[in-house]
Amino acid sequence: MAEYQRGKPKIKQVILDAGVVIRPRGNMTGNEWSPERREAHRLATRTPEFAAKARTATLARLAKVRESPAINTAIERRLHDALKTARIGFRTQSILLGTYLVDIEINQAPVVIEADGQVHSLPQQKAKDALRDTALAEAGYRVFRFTGSEINTDAVACIERVTSACGLVPDREPVYDIRTKFSGELHPLWKGGKREFTCETCGGTFLAQPKHRTGEHVYCSRQCSAKARVGAKLGPFTAEHRAKISAGKKRHHQTKVESDLRGDAQRAAETTAPATLF
Ligand SMILES: [Zn+2]
Repeated sequence: MAEYQRGKPKIKQVILDAGVVIRPRGNMTGNEWSPERREAHRLATRTPEFAAKARTATLARLAKVRESPAINTAIERRLHDALKTARIGFRTQSILLGTYLVDIEINQAPVVIEADGQVHSLPQQKAKDALRDTALAEAGYRVFRFTGSEINTDAVACIERVTSACGLVPDREPVYDIRTKFSGELHPLWKGGKREFTCETCGGTFLAQPKHRTGEHVYCSRQCSAKARVGAKLGPFTAEHRAKISAGKKRHHQTKVESDLRGDAQRAAETTAPATLF
């Protein structure tokens, strides 16, 4: 607006003069989900084109989802809360049979609860899930899957279904192990962590990430690197050098004292001077 050199009221007046109706501020009214509107929305979205679009968007998001496999999604967190209310201990993101990362594993019994987001409605994901469920069942786990809408509608009911089916009872001292990070050798992208290196300057061994020591030379610290670059070992300061530093410090102190004195004098003058209003 600034570039037109006009204020908001003026611009508004110009718009109104042009016969444009300005939408009132705030949320639009009349957009409530009436049965008719819901039906219209259903008709518009239940098309192959819409499904294809949604599928593309989901697949595009998948890559990011895989980046951080231990992030608890909103529906998982709802299940956590319901389990806490029921006082049933659980742990999240545990790896079963060495390959399967499960959402929730109950402590008191081999029971697995999965919160299935959008991804699990894709055909290839369904096939994967079926394989996984079979493997887990063979290993003695009972697997329960709940969709996002089931959880969002009533997470407590979902948990009740699990407890009644498996005969789970509230723990006396429930332990809730909610993993929010996924680091170390459990991370699928783990590259082995820190490795031992030997410093070329001081000869000491130290641990470091290999990606941080990719250069030609290996040093333990900036100091060792600097020493190597200078090509000489820096010993303790000589008497001459120390005298130089001391003189510099004294000079700095003197300047500071003088400056403070000047400031005091100035402040004193300001407070004692008569007020000159005109
Ligand atoms: Zn060193």
